[in-house]
Amino acid sequence: MTAVAFVGLGNMGGPMSARLVAAGHAVRGFDLSPDARQALDDTGGTSAPDLAGAVRDAEIVILMLPNSDIVEATVDDLDVPPGTLVVDMSSSEPLRTRALAEAVADRGITLVDAPVSGGVARARTGKLTIMTGGSPEALARVEPVLACLGTTTRAGEVGSGHAVKALNNLMSAAHLLVTSEAMLAGERFGLDPATMLSIFNSSSGRSGSTENKWPNFILPETYDSGFGLRLMLKDMRIATGLAASVGTPDPLGEAAVSFWERAADALDPGADHTEIVNWLRKD
Ligand code: NAD
Repeated sequence: MTAVAFVGLGNMGGPMSARLVAAGHAVRGFDLSPDARQALDDTGGTSAPDLAGAVRDAEIVILMLPNSDIVEATVDDLDVPPGTLVVDMSSSEPLRTRALAEAVADRGITLVDAPVSGGVARARTGKLTIMTGGSPEALARVEPVLACLGTTTRAGEVGSGHAVKALNNLMSAAHLLVTSEAMLAGERFGLDPATMLSIFNSSSGRSGSTENKWPNFILPETYDSGFGLRLMLKDMRIATGLAASVGTPDPLGEAAVSFWERAADALDPGADHTEIVNWLRKD
């Protein structure tokens, strides 16, 4: 059993912290939202009214927060003894993660990154894909905890998990956009959407969008994947920024970002990322 502080109990952090509680870890959590804190208490974990209360006596501090700005501010505020391991499971910016890891090393704190893919459904079932960055020794310390959440692959030194996560989501966003364009064109042509998906899923156009997003959230018109459109745009910008920083061309990525920015301006701020198709329909 490990004493874990879990900061950020939202769409992902909520079910992830619940799994750690169910596995027998001593979880103390904090979120700005009282409802999210109550949800942790309801699973048998312990919520704290502030960050300091959550991290007291923690061996490992897990962060599942919206972005690097909030991660940096939270890490600045962390009052933890040397030797504490901080695991940033948020989808943060790789170069900022590297700089943050160097900065906290002066306080005796080790920071590793362990962002995830798989969405809310796989957070609930403990089947997330976890991509890590950090030293093998530091990652070995957190592995028993991560094993309750999914399957881990080490991508490289600190920041590498965040880099591959952003690149994955750029691909995922581009797949969803082009799949939606194809589906709308097919529908207008008179094709049945379910038949199209069935054919795509045994053909070369297959992707997470044809296998999961379209059949589960778009065709039933629920748009409730639990992953916000603005969070996806954040990840796409991280990926195109990464490409720019290393000087590789990414014309399709840049185009996808500009479409996604227009959709973010047009749709409700809380829109699910699968609602991109509704923006396409109207545009
Ligand atoms: P979310 O908005 O549902 O949850 C974020 C939580 O952080 C909220 O409950 C919010 O109240 C809390 N929060 C914000 N600032 C805080 C602070 N200073 N202190 C404490 N709590 C604070 O977002 P989410 O969908 O759970 O995503 C979290 C992270 O995981 C993001 O980086 C996102 O990009 C990434 N991610 C999300 C999904 C998904 O499917 N939702 C999948 C993979 C990765």
